[in-house]
Amino acid sequence: MNTHIDIVQSAQERKEIGMKRYGILNYPDSLHREFILLRGLGCGWERCTFCDYCADKDTDAQKNYQLNKSVLANVTGQFRCLQIVSSGSFSELDFQTITAIQSTVIEKNINYLILETHTMYERQLPNIRALFPTANVEFIVGAETFDIELRYKLNKGQGNRTVEDYTKHYEWTNLLFGFEEENGLSRLEHDVTLAMKHFKRFTICMFCDNDTPIKRDPKLVDEFYKSELFSFLTTDPTARFKCEILDDCDIRAPHSTDGVGGVLMDI
Ligand code: SF4
Repeated sequence: MNTHIDIVQSAQERKEIGMKRYGILNYPDSLHREFILLRGLGCGWERCTFCDYCADKDTDAQKNYQLNKSVLANVTGQFRCLQIVSSGSFSELDFQTITAIQSTVIEKNINYLILETHTMYERQLPNIRALFPTANVEFIVGAETFDIELRYKLNKGQGNRTVEDYTKHYEWTNLLFGFEEENGLSRLEHDVTLAMKHFKRFTICMFCDNDTPIKRDPKLVDEFYKSELFSFLTTDPTARFKCEILDDCDIRAPHSTDGVGGVLMDI
């Protein structure tokens, strides 16, 4: 298990040294699963103000396939559940990689597959599900917040979608917190209330400084870790199963992606 604090690097450093791309998530009360980070052709949106991980891309589909094939070779099927992320959307993976994922799902007996896309691909989701007829396929959307004004500031490119709009297509969502913003903890409390009610599962990603101008707000982050909200999320049985809290900059975060996304030398 990595120490979270050690795995924060710039996108350039991660690219130069090489990222860890396979991990296992098996916290108590969590959904036990294998977790892989594949490389795509590039995020089709690439304009979110806080994001630098979209730099993990290559326009050479063959190179991506070779890398992704080696990552997929790690999958054992031990939990029959696999989560696949890429620095972008599932739809931006090359054709050969998608075929290799189909083979892995069959060969390793995966019956629960978790994928991620931007809303610009939401109409494709039934077709993606159809690629994996033997698995229950669920999708994550990076809504980040249900505060529409803040989401525009983050330039998510998801328009005026409400929580109900998201849940027509997606079962899981990611929320982003811990950066300098006006409404702080009350905004997150509202987002969590909605996520608890409407989504099967959700992740709170605590923002860590990166190559973008967005800044972490250490006071606000500290307020969160000392809050009743954090206590609720980490002790209430329903919340514990539904919510994972990720923070590469603070060991108080109860979950991690097993170092996936960090450079190999830190693992
Ligand atoms: S859609 Fe995702 S990968 Fe693309 S810029 Fe936004 S946060 Fe980054």
